[in-house]
Amino acid sequence: MTTNAARTEQGTYTYQDPAAGIDARVGDLLGRMTLEEKVGQMMQLDARGGNLSELILDKHVGSILHTSPSDLPAAMEMACQRTRLGIPLIVGDDCIHGYSFWPGATIFPTQLGMANSWDPAKVEAAARATAQEVAATGLHWTFSPVLCIARDPRWGRVDETFGEDPTLIGELASAMVRGYQGGAKVGQSLAPDAILACAKHFAGYSETQGGRDASEADLSHRKLLSWFLPPFERVASEGCGSFMLGYEAIDGVPVTFNSWLLSDVLRGQWGYRGMLVTDWDNVGRSVWEQHIKADITQAAADAVKAGNDLIMTTPSFYEGALAAVQQGTLSESLIDQAVSRVLGVKFRLGLFENPRLPNKERIERVVGSQEHQELNLELARESAVLLTNDGSLPLLQSPAQEASQPARTIAVVGPLADDAQGQLGDWAGSSGQVSWMQDGQPRQMITTLLDGLRGQAPEGWQVTYARGADIVRLVPDPEGETFPDGQPRPKIAVPAQVDAGMIEQALAQARQADVVVAAVGDHIALVGEGRSTATLELQGGQQELLKALSQVCQAEGKPLIVVLMASKPQVLPQAALEASALIWAPNPGMKGGQALAEILFGSSEPCGRLPITFPRHAGQLPVYYNQIRGQHGNRYADLTQDPAFAFGEGLSYTSFAYGELEIEGAQTLRVGDTLHASIRLTNTGNRRGTEVVQAYVSDLVTSVTWAEHELKAFRRVTLEPGESRTVHIDLPVSACSLVDAEGNRRIEPGEFDLQVGHSSRSEDLTCARFQVLE
Ligand code: BGC
Repeated sequence: MTTNAARTEQGTYTYQDPAAGIDARVGDLLGRMTLEEKVGQMMQLDARGGNLSELILDKHVGSILHTSPSDLPAAMEMACQRTRLGIPLIVGDDCIHGYSFWPGATIFPTQLGMANSWDPAKVEAAARATAQEVAATGLHWTFSPVLCIARDPRWGRVDETFGEDPTLIGELASAMVRGYQGGAKVGQSLAPDAILACAKHFAGYSETQGGRDASEADLSHRKLLSWFLPPFERVASEGCGSFMLGYEAIDGVPVTFNSWLLSDVLRGQWGYRGMLVTDWDNVGRSVWEQHIKADITQAAADAVKAGNDLIMTTPSFYEGALAAVQQGTLSESLIDQAVSRVLGVKFRLGLFENPRLPNKERIERVVGSQEHQELNLELARESAVLLTNDGSLPLLQSPAQEASQPARTIAVVGPLADDAQGQLGDWAGSSGQVSWMQDGQPRQMITTLLDGLRGQAPEGWQVTYARGADIVRLVPDPEGETFPDGQPRPKIAVPAQVDAGMIEQALAQARQADVVVAAVGDHIALVGEGRSTATLELQGGQQELLKALSQVCQAEGKPLIVVLMASKPQVLPQAALEASALIWAPNPGMKGGQALAEILFGSSEPCGRLPITFPRHAGQLPVYYNQIRGQHGNRYADLTQDPAFAFGEGLSYTSFAYGELEIEGAQTLRVGDTLHASIRLTNTGNRRGTEVVQAYVSDLVTSVTWAEHELKAFRRVTLEPGESRTVHIDLPVSACSLVDAEGNRRIEPGEFDLQVGHSSRSEDLTCARFQVLE
């Protein structure tokens, strides 16, 4: 299908001529559009309402989101065939760890799970696979990756982030952008199997108060420039095609209207030429919720003036923008600039020649393909972090042992052991955003932990199961059935009661078993937008369950393995912290159970590392590792400040030893130089393993207060037993910068420590000093 106008008047207009340059095509088309068509082109509306003709024919929308597989072809056809100029839609959705809302798509671990891998190559491959699946289904644009910095784990969207560190976030997000866009940059054409990426939520959305979603953020420009903006700057230079503007306000000005952030920094200093989309009803909320605009006419005018290109789900923007132009408060030329950017993206996607309708043959070949499931399994293996192990894991020390060992019984217990849809986490089928996947993703594509252990247990072994506890009960929201904007309010979660009968059943299984595997964590009702948690404790009957299991296991001398399948860091009870082994696998995706079973049995090695710190108590927050130095004392009067598990930590089944850190060549450098260092890493255990070598920098004296140390580089190194390798770290001096009191990022001459080792804990790091001269 080509567009209506192209079909009837082929070659008549420049914009229909694929041989013409994109600027010429955009200019020609813009000149033919009415004001109403241009305003519509700036709008992205929700396709779930079943009113496609109203959106496309009456409001001339340029984009839709949350479009069901059955509506998508009809919508595109309507735009291309039944509108005056035949301008194709750009169709977007939240394909943030796979195409969440396409039945049978490959659902990978959540972003936080992916971050546990510290493996940009795998993350890029997952994004590439997602792009191939998404592109085949007729969608053009994903609202991913998320670059928010997760500093308060009470926030409900921590699972969507890459954790707490700007360098790690920048690396992984750039990898994702390359994967989605197939390497294309802003201004370049996107291959047929590439989709447009969207860096979100620009910027500082995660810096909530009390973890509350979309609350006013306390963000100085310096704080933004220091930590929150660098990952975005990184993906802007990587060529990420679009940015989504967060909900929150900075210095009282919501991002959507924030000219410092959008004009001075993004468009100005960074020279960003991609497309900007608001978050959900940012423009409307400025009127009905934040009360900073008198009416939609003012809000629409100010949003256009601030440089927004696409306005997400504010239907009244249409009337507002038209009125503003008519009243003379908004110049049409500003609308033209925004529309040009939207049209430019459509031309670069080649939509005028090929609207990329769902392609049955490609869907069958690509969506959920064997190859993608293999990749998913590889990523799931890397996304599990072994936090403690007294040697009980792996359950089989070697394949030879499998034959010689007497058959054992594994009691698998816990509410997450066999929760196929829950394991996928948020933005995945039945997580609440769309209506056409109430039952979630196909069950047969998902391996739960129970499935995995059953499938992989050696012959003669027994795997038993008891749920043991519930997490939450869902009850109607006392605030009413809908939000002020008419969207349905989901039910709210209250902790489930401790159920003595369920615990007793689990204990009965545990008593019969040789080893107990308990899968605990959170529930989708405790995860996501508007679902921040006040506490971080395991909810419902889970703590009692773990306590009871721990007592039985200790009394009977059998290992208790705790598998934490929580979407985000939790405050763990003693029974989990003192278990024989503890492993964290946040929403590990469709292959999660298979990967975890492999790790438990020992056919795969655990290699994940924490991208986010685990507190011991919610009262310790914030616990992120790169805090500003300087305070009175280093503990609370009633509690240590030491976190339960620090950024970068994670165990292997083997052990590694680090040698001396050596600076190669000059130890005195200048700003344009690169520091070269090396360290000898040895696998001192008797299994193959992967270590993530982490390099931090500490600036010894700074003109302004600054973090004690910051991650600057990392390398994944796989070594055979006994093998040693020299690991090289090459660090541009330009990376050793700080943001001064005036908000300028600069390198201050003086002494620095390079710290290399296993985690952010100082006792895990070996140091070498270097000097930077003026
Ligand atoms: C979220 C975004 C998402 C958008 C569209 C918003 O509420 O904050 O992350 O992309 O909805 O679903």
